[in-house]
Amino acid sequence: MKGHQPGRGRCAGCAVGDPLDRDLTAGVPLAQLAKKYKISGQSLGAHKRNHWNPALVAAHRKQELEGTALSSLAEINEAIRHMKAILGASVKAGLVGQALSSNRELRQNLEFLARLTGELNDKPDLVVNIAMTSEWSRIRTVMLTTLMKFPDACRAVSDELAKLDKEAA
Ligand SMILES: [Zn+2]
Repeated sequence: MKGHQPGRGRCAGCAVGDPLDRDLTAGVPLAQLAKKYKISGQSLGAHKRNHWNPALVAAHRKQELEGTALSSLAEINEAIRHMKAILGASVKAGLVGQALSSNRELRQNLEFLARLTGELNDKPDLVVNIAMTSEWSRIRTVMLTTLMKFPDACRAVSDELAKLDKEAA
């Protein structure tokens, strides 16, 4: 949302809005912008002096980035739901290879989710150890408990998990 500033209403530059303000921030020459947006250089100059606000443009950009992060968040959550369903089904069916690969994928998704959430919370220094999250240990417990019914599969999975733990250490 743009803040209301005196005289913004009738300005040709304001009518263009964000794209123009972004070009001004990028330092595109006025002559070039005049051609691009079909606005006189004089009007552009007046808009730049009176209405263009680099701080506001920076704020918009931040909002856009947050929007992108939020839609990635929705996507990754969707992917996690899928991987959980696939993992559950393959464990039930005793499909070890499939269980392991969906498990790996799930783990990656959870790691990505944790990073993304950390970014959104504005804590760039946050180090998330996915192995320590309750979500991960819950999945791991459910998986191994179910796999008890398939001793060979169970052994194979716990071997792989042990390898992963070694890699992570
Ligand atoms: Zn203006």
